[in-house]
Amino acid sequence: MTFHSMWAELLPIGRSSASGGYRRFAWTGADADCRAWFKAQAESRGLTYELDRNGNQWAWLGDPTAGDAVVTGSHLDSVPDGGAFDGPLGVVSSFAALDELRARQVTLAKPLALVNFGDEEGARFGLACVGSRLAAGQLTVEQAHRLTDADGVTLPQAMERAGYDAGTIGPDPERLARIGAFVELHVEQGRALDLSGDRIGIASAIWPHGRWRFDFRGEANHAGTTRLADRRDPMLSYAETVLAARREARLAGAVATFGKIAVEPNGVNAIPSLVRGWLDSRAADQRTLDTVVTGVEKAAREYADAHGIELDVVRESFTPVVEFDHALRDELARILGRDTGTGAGTGADLKVPVLGTGAGHDAGILSGTIPTAMLFVRNPTGVSHSPAEYAAEDDCVAGVTALADVLEGLARR
Ligand SMILES: [Zn+2]
Repeated sequence: MTFHSMWAELLPIGRSSASGGYRRFAWTGADADCRAWFKAQAESRGLTYELDRNGNQWAWLGDPTAGDAVVTGSHLDSVPDGGAFDGPLGVVSSFAALDELRARQVTLAKPLALVNFGDEEGARFGLACVGSRLAAGQLTVEQAHRLTDADGVTLPQAMERAGYDAGTIGPDPERLARIGAFVELHVEQGRALDLSGDRIGIASAIWPHGRWRFDFRGEANHAGTTRLADRRDPMLSYAETVLAARREARLAGAVATFGKIAVEPNGVNAIPSLVRGWLDSRAADQRTLDTVVTGVEKAAREYADAHGIELDVVRESFTPVVEFDHALRDELARILGRDTGTGAGTGADLKVPVLGTGAGHDAGILSGTIPTAMLFVRNPTGVSHSPAEYAAEDDCVAGVTALADVLEGLARR
């Protein structure tokens, strides 16, 4: 099967005709169809298929227990109304790269595996990377049992209803110990490659990021009869804080977003008593992120004081920077920067940019346990988590070649 035909098979699964986006949520029918597709691809190639204790799917070329395996893959689930590329590009490219290696007739010294991690986006249970987190022991069984979807269905119930044994979920150190290197190919979720004019990039790190809740408390009153001078309107301080976040992020070369807001009493003719806004901020390093968030909070306090508003700021979540394995990253750059001599190589003068990302991935979760790396494929608009997410077919094929070069380079030694 070619990249093109595999892509065409996956394309209709879980697509909403109303939005054109994908709704491939964990343990639903669309997810089951994607999983059936993965299993069929593995079996049609004579690979050893495995379903692990956490519902992640594996396809092995060579002895799974031999150790020092080279593994590639991504995920097939989606965010609500997500695009076609986030996840599936990495899985389809994995099968296509394996086909490419077979066509090159290379002899591999190490086992090779392809993987589809379950529930990467967290669209249903609100926590991302559940499959890899469970395997790596970064999510306990007790925590996993408490995950509940919008209909009150727990993760174990959802797994059981989809025909999986939820009684086995938990850390999987033996399986991860088989892996010498994990490489995830992913569509870029930004425009760095488009701006630099490169098809392929190598990940340096996943930016540290966090979420902070800002509670601005004032006094509810009548929107018609309360003189402006008499108001304690928290919406004003909030609005000024949104602008401050934009300013601080721009000055620091970071990103900061107020994307969610709750207002009380939330009446069209009432001055609010409470405005609660959530700040999401990410930066290339911890110090920059601290500078941004400290700056936003300082500005918010000044605006709040000026309007007689009480302010509470609470950090609700935080994920530190994830640095990908430096030796593996350099190895990828070395492999992709030279001609592999197989005729399908990527050219002697290819310079592959190394870039950071503000998005989380299974590769980031696993990087705490095994050497991991990522390849990015150019996304001309940078749009992701939307039906507009896109990569040109030429670039996808270049991604397959790069992945095949990397797998060959890593597994042949
Ligand atoms: Zn993804």
